[in-house]
Order: sequence, then structure tokens, then C-alpha cells
Amino acid sequence: MTRIVAVGAGFGGFHCLRTLQRLLPRNAAELVVVNPKDYHLYTPLLPHVAGGRVHPASVAVSLRTLKRTRFVRGSVVDADLDGKTITVRDPMGRHHEMNWDRLVLAPGAVTRIFDIPGLKEHAHGFKTITEAVYLFDRVLANLDMAASTQDAAEKEALTTFIVVGAGLAGAEYVAQARRLAAAANPHLTTRWILLDMADSVMPQLGGDLPDKALKALRSEGIEVRLGMSVKEVTADSATFTDGTRVPCRLLVWTAGVSASPLMGRLGLPTDRGRLVVNAEMRVPGYTDVFALGDAAAVPDLTGEPGAICGQTAQHAMRQGPALARNIAASLGRGEARPYRHHDLGMVADLGGFKGVASPLHVPLVGLPAKAVASAYHLMSLESLSNQARLASDWFMHALTRPAPTSFGLVTDSHAALTAAEQLGIYPADKPSSGGGADARAKAKQDGQAQHGGAKASSSGSSSAKSKPKAHQATG
Ligand SMILES: Cc1cc2nc3c(=O)[nH]c(=O)nc-3n(C[C@H](O)[C@H](O)[C@H](O)COP(=O)(O)OP(=O)(O)OC[C@H]3O[C@@H](n4cnc5c(N)ncnc54)[C@H](O)[C@@H]3O)c2cc1C
Repeated sequence: MTRIVAVGAGFGGFHCLRTLQRLLPRNAAELVVVNPKDYHLYTPLLPHVAGGRVHPASVAVSLRTLKRTRFVRGSVVDADLDGKTITVRDPMGRHHEMNWDRLVLAPGAVTRIFDIPGLKEHAHGFKTITEAVYLFDRVLANLDMAASTQDAAEKEALTTFIVVGAGLAGAEYVAQARRLAAAANPHLTTRWILLDMADSVMPQLGGDLPDKALKALRSEGIEVRLGMSVKEVTADSATFTDGTRVPCRLLVWTAGVSASPLMGRLGLPTDRGRLVVNAEMRVPGYTDVFALGDAAAVPDLTGEPGAICGQTAQHAMRQGPALARNIAASLGRGEARPYRHHDLGMVADLGGFKGVASPLHVPLVGLPAKAVASAYHLMSLESLSNQARLASDWFMHALTRPAPTSFGLVTDSHAALTAAEQLGIYPADKPSSGGGADARAKAKQDGQAQHGGAKASSSGSSSAKSKPKAHQATG
């Protein structure tokens, strides 16, 4: 039977599989997804998780809801497109190979780390549940420590929070986190600084909405500094590009993403790190390899010639079903069609009754924007039980304003920039073409190339007692 393997269960991979389940009869293909976690993460609501308004489980859609898809827990660290295999690293750090007949590359993007002294060591990213839960805990811990110290300088550093990157993720995070701090300890004065090299916040909103968002953030007491970034980060301070040194104990880095490192290992053309594909999301030169979402440079047929789609959930969740139809066409069902999607606008919830939104490019601010944002997220969340949980989280929060409690389950090392996103799992060699040789050699050494699929070896760190490498800090 034809095996269709999706790498990554984010917006692109999840929606592609869901549509394939619908389009293909059971006996037409075996569907497999390889993902490091057993859930699809609804990232647009991570700021609500970090702000304590939404439970992490509400935004994690179980992959078990994909009833006809076999889930393989692990990360793909290499792919041999000519040999039609991928190398999967399981949570124990073991490697094995898996065959495929159609390959869907949807591993998304990772936080873009610049060569700024101290950034990798001391900043925290904001792309995963691990990071969102850590930031929630960490803000509360800093406030508690600030409340019990007599040292004025220490108190100031503990209550100063810096967020770099004023896109959707950074702006929404700072708004939600400031509210969390105010609710956790109304007696402490906290300082929130949002930096961005650009000259506006959330420029993707278009029109005058970025200005309105800026006004809304400043009205909340958030210091927004534009045309500025950081040039050095230490454990207890950040130095801005204008030379200002600000003592702080938490710096959140949301200043951009780059395509998954897996894309660079394939030895194929990339555009700004994203794998080049045609408008049908097919990798040139391969009839059975496809890519989409943040990891792929999908042509934007509605934009200027040569434009590629933005790295947004909006695109990825529409590319998924479009690609599913093209894959079904490659199996003789229907016709392949190019991906074409007109931007429907963006929504941003800035906490309380504040928000900005541009549904169908109609500019909204305040409560109407907030209502549109909430309805949009509720409808876009992929499972009924998650929708019910989310609605109940929001409702209970508005009704009872629960006092926040941190469990401190995520350690500093788990939440480090490189560890939370597992940036260290990819073998270090640079392939000449078609993928890195060392990961495949390691897979062969670890186990056997599996025609039937994901059977792991018992060598290397495979002992059930050994510490899972995937959970070790890599940074
Ligand atoms: C905090 C935050 C807020 C955001 N808000 C918005 C918003 O409001 N609106 C909007 O349009 N966009 C938003 N985005 C952007 C949006 O999340 C991305 O554009 C979208 O997730 C891209 O979808 P994707 O399928 O390409 O990748 P993802 O959704 O990131 O999924 C990639 C999947 O692949 C898995 N994976 C990674 N590497 C491997 C590997 N080697 N092997 C196997 N699996 C792998 C990952 O674990 C993940 O499950 C936000 C992003 C963040 C971080």
C-alpha cells in the first residue's frame, strides 16, 4: 500500500492529514505522521497560556484525533529523497529509517537566533508549550522573589521584563504577561519593555492598525521602543543597541523565525532558508516530495511575481488541505491545483478589552476586535473538546479571576532557547545533496532500515533506563 509520511503535525501537516483521511479510502494509502510530541499546537493562543488565561491542554490538539493516521513519536533528522527514506530520532535518542512513497515536509520553523553575545544562553524563546509554561512560572517566581527582597537594585531587576520582537507573538505576549503580573501582585510595580528594530508593532496588520496597537500597548504602561534591539544579554541585564543597559532577570526573544534546520540538510535550493517548491507545493525534480508551511517557500500567486507566502498559521492551515488534494491527485483521484489564497487579515488580542483586528481587511479596535479574535480562535481550534475547554477557560477566567499558581515543573535547562526547540538534534555535517550521510550511517548502525517502518534499534542509548537524550538540554 502507498505510504504517505508527513514530517510535522503543525498547521500544515495536521490539516493535510485530516483532509487526506477524508479524500482517500482506507485501502488507498497508509497515513503516517512523525512529530516529536503527540499533539498539534495551536500557537496563536500561546500568549494566553503564558498569561495564565488558558490551560496548556486547551491549545494542544491530540494527534490521536487523527483516527486513520499512525503516529510516530520522534523527529526527522535527515531525509534521502532518492532512496525514499527518512531518518527518525526517537525520544530516547535512537535513530531508525522509515520508507515512504509520498513525503510531506511540514516541520515548520524555529526561533531565529542572532549572533548576539549571551542571547543563546540567557534569552528565552516563545514557540512551544514548554516555553509558554516556563514563562508563566518564571514571571510569578520573579515577582515572589522581588516581594521578599530588601535590595532595591535586585527588586528592580526582578520586576523588569524585556521582550524583543513586536510581531504578533511578542506584542500579544507582553500584553498578557503584564496583566498576569498585575493580577499576581498588585502591590508591586513592574516594568515591561517591548523592543523591535522595525518602526512599528505588528506591521502585518496593515493600515493604521499598527499605530492603534502601539497606542493600546503604551496605554497599558508598556514601554515600546522601536528601531532598537539588544546587543548583549547577560544573566542579569540587557544592553540595547543604543547603549542603554537595563538590569533584568527575564528576556523573551521573539524576533523572527527561520525554517527548520531539516530543510538545509536536503541539499536542495532554498529561499531565505525555506525549501523551494512550486505552486502545487511539489519539490522540483521530485514527483513525490512536497513541502508547505513555514518550512517551505510556497509561491504567493496573489502577490507580486516571485513573492512567497508569509510564515503564518493562516497560510499553513490552508496549504494543508490544498496539498492533500494534490497528493490525492498523484494517486489518481482528482486533479492537482496550484495553491492560491488571499490574505484574510490578522487578529491580535491585547488583553482586557483591548485588541486590533483586520477581518477581511476591515479595521477593528477594542472590544469588537477582541470579539472577532476570540471567535476566530475558537472556530479555528481543530477539535470540539479543545474548543469546549478553551471556551470554559475564558469563561471561568472572566468570571472568577483565579489567583495564578505556578508548579515550576519546567526547569531552566528544559526551557533554554536551543533545548526547548531541540535545535541540537540535527547531525552537524553539511550534505552535498539529498541529505546528510552521517545520520543515515548512524541509523544503519543503530538499527536496520525498516521497510515496514518505525522499529527502533536497541543499541546506542536505547536502554530503557538511559536518560532520554531528547529531553537533555542542548544549549
Ligand atoms: C506565539 C506565536 C503566536 C503566533 N500567532 C499567530 C497568529 O496569530 N496568526 C498566524 O497566522 N500565525 C501565528 N503564528 C505563526 C504560526 O504559528 C506559524 O506560521 C504556523 O504554525 C506554521 O505552521 P507549520 O505547519 O508550517 O509549522 P508548525 O505549526 O510550527 O508545526 C511544525 C510541526 O513540526 C514538528 N517538527 C519540527 N521539527 C520536526 C522534525 N525534525 N521532525 C518531525 N516533526 C518536526 C513541530 O514539533 C510541529 O509540531 C504564531 C506563532 C507563534 C510562535
